[in-house]
Amino acid sequence: MASDSSSALNTNSTVWEGIWHAEASSRCKKLVWRACSEGLPVRSLLLQKGIIKGDDTCPCCRTCKETTTHALLLCEEVKPFWLGSPLGLRVDWLHNVANITMSQWVDQCLDVLDKRGMGMLCAMVWGLWHKRNAWVIRKKKLDFAQVMAKALSVFATQEWVPPLDSKVKVNFAVSAIEDVGTGFGVIFRNSKAETMASGTYFLKDECYDSEIAATVCYKWAIEKSQELFFIDANFETDCQQLYNQWNEFTQENNTSSASYLDELLEECRTMMQGTEASLTLVAHTANKVAQCLARLAFDYGEKDWIDEVPNKALESLQSDLAAIADASADRSINVNIVLQD
Ligand SMILES: [Zn+2]
Repeated sequence: MASDSSSALNTNSTVWEGIWHAEASSRCKKLVWRACSEGLPVRSLLLQKGIIKGDDTCPCCRTCKETTTHALLLCEEVKPFWLGSPLGLRVDWLHNVANITMSQWVDQCLDVLDKRGMGMLCAMVWGLWHKRNAWVIRKKKLDFAQVMAKALSVFATQEWVPPLDSKVKVNFAVSAIEDVGTGFGVIFRNSKAETMASGTYFLKDECYDSEIAATVCYKWAIEKSQELFFIDANFETDCQQLYNQWNEFTQENNTSSASYLDELLEECRTMMQGTEASLTLVAHTANKVAQCLARLAFDYGEKDWIDEVPNKALESLQSDLAAIADASADRSINVNIVLQD
């Protein structure tokens, strides 16, 4: 971005670094950087460059000039998505919101968001730009679930990170082998990355489709967590289908149990009611121990371990610990945000 002012250049390098360190895929970080450098083909820019003539009104709301900030942040068609995102951002409450540039806004966000929060921000920008283009190019209106699915397809924590303060993090996973059965694995860890408990479960000869299996496993993990009195736990899955279904189900306030899947989701919701428990999507690589335990379920069947994992899962546990050590060694941005459930 061409700028004469050295403070703007400083802001730019801070913003660039902040985006670069965000936990998100590089293609969506590049998009956010393009937005911050005023490189996205919004209508005001196209008009300025003489590529279009006459009208630079936002094609989505048809009320304001379409600047980068408008398209990604201020448009009335976009605000509810920020509020409904895991960031729970109220765009109207932002400081100096009407006159802000994308780069200034990202700079402000860097003060309050950690790498994970920034990753979510990048993913939301990705999803919202996709939503805008779906409308402009194909005249297709994407709903909340579709935009979130798009955003989350590029955002997921790549390595396991400990939960905040007094919370317990519950990672769970499924492993299925056709004609043999389905294995479940779960591990409970605290903010010091200490193992509180772990467990396996095996369903012989039973194989569900992956969505059902993930939901049965989720229910099992919630039951285990309540047995252990970890009431407000942070559950983590690497199953995108489960994550999407869960969000759709809990947002719709759907009480009619139309299918077996809905019934399972309803049971999960009932068990979590009145708690601060939450479900987050992570990458496969951030769910290694649970994955390993799910495979071990084929040997162990139903089994629990207190304060430890079985020896055969030690390697994946240690790989998580090594990743935390690496992350804290080069951590420059260490402000945590409490993500809304
Ligand atoms: Zn608009």
